[in-house]
Amino acid sequence: MKKNIALVAHDNRKNDLVEWVRHNREKLSGNHFFATGTTGSLLADVLDDVHRLKSGPLGGDQQLGALIAEEKIDFMIFFWDPMASQPHDVDVKALLRMTVLYNIPTACNRSSADFLITSPLFTDEDYQPAKKDYSTYLNRLTKNTTT
Ligand code: PGA
Repeated sequence: MKKNIALVAHDNRKNDLVEWVRHNREKLSGNHFFATGTTGSLLADVLDDVHRLKSGPLGGDQQLGALIAEEKIDFMIFFWDPMASQPHDVDVKALLRMTVLYNIPTACNRSSADFLITSPLFTDEDYQPAKKDYSTYLNRLTKNTTT
């Protein structure tokens, strides 16, 4: 079954991501990809099935976060830049928060990305990342709004 894989790279990391994708093209092919705008345009030459969202600073990171909340993303590779501040830093933080909240396997550097795609779980049809139970939070919220 096709997995939905999110691919994002900040400007100084785009070459690294394109190179990594090129290197692993065979392993990655057959899946469906979502990428932020500029990253996606660079990957279109390397991968077949890339759905381009808006550019990250123009809302692309938030679109990805929304897809995660809708449980439409299985993995994320996000090469963010540890050496430059970003105008959309809050969006980056929000996106990374969503990956933790929804327990999405996420790699932010090349070695983690290597581990992720070579794990037997990467191709295991039956593996579903555990979902945390937020019902206590939801119940408390409902109680507070109805009293
Ligand atoms: P970009 O966005 O692919 O449009 O450059 C990446 C990001 O989130 O900064």
